[in-house]
Amino acid sequence: MNRKRYVLLDRDGTMIVEREYLADPAGVALLAGAAEGMRLLQAAGFGLVVITNQSGIGRGYFDEAALTAVHERLRELLAAEDVSIDGIYFCPHVEREQCLCRKPRTGLVEQAAHDFHFDPKQSYVVGDKAIDVELGQAIGAVSLLVRTGYGAEHERKQTCRPDFIVDDLRAAAETIIADVQLR
Ligand SMILES: [Mg+2]
Ligand SMILES: [Zn+2]
Repeated sequence: MNRKRYVLLDRDGTMIVEREYLADPAGVALLAGAAEGMRLLQAAGFGLVVITNQSGIGRGYFDEAALTAVHERLRELLAAEDVSIDGIYFCPHVEREQCLCRKPRTGLVEQAAHDFHFDPKQSYVVGDKAIDVELGQAIGAVSLLVRTGYGAEHERKQTCRPDFIVDDLRAAAETIIADVQLR
């Protein structure tokens, strides 16, 4: 088992600007503070894994090649900020397919934990929706809701009970780095 801890990051509305069914690499825009937050986490020794629902594939709005192009652009933007993501895991399904990987279900985390040999219970989950917080709770991780993307709306409607609510990914990183010292 890897002693390294991992932060499991939602993509849309958490790392990059939320655009419904993003399929164009030109539409990838890092949110303010996102790259800095990820850089802080990497400097503190955390691995970074993206866990994202991409039902646009299951709906036929775009294909996996388009998603790959979006992720290549994301990696390129992050590389320019000295950030390197360890892995990107996506669910291509729609709800009615009842797959095991669509958040808040845990299939993608199990795959990542298998690939990188980490304990999901020792990880942190950061996202802008209740499903992200529910994923964190399902795997026994610490969950953080960011106010970017749909996060402020989820906070206002009290749709979930995250361990922490923070403004953005940079604040999430600072919170995680402080919290991990206490564990
Ligand atoms: Mg999101
Ligand atoms: Zn799925």
